[in-house]
Amino acid sequence: MTEFDPRTKPSLCPYCGYFFDCATAINGSAARPKPGDYSICINCGCASVLNADLSLRKRTAIDPVDDEARAMFQRARAACLQRGPLHPNRKPNA
Ligand SMILES: [Zn+2]
Repeated sequence: MTEFDPRTKPSLCPYCGYFFDCATAINGSAARPKPGDYSICINCGCASVLNADLSLRKRTAIDPVDDEARAMFQRARAACLQRGPLHPNRKPNA
């Protein structure tokens, strides 16, 4: 049995600077974070991409995003904006 390990490289969200060191799958599965996965910041709701070392970088125009993912990113961002940031001093600057 493989033990679930949600750890990432301790990093800051590239949009708001919120500290993180783990990620979980949005569908509730036990999938481990891996390079190329998208990650939605729990503080600001912005979607980033995991680098090879599991730190985050901003998405670019060449990162593939299908309509389903784009809609999910928009819902997550809207929910975070409605709730407000978890850390008031870490507002998105993107
Ligand atoms: Zn953020």
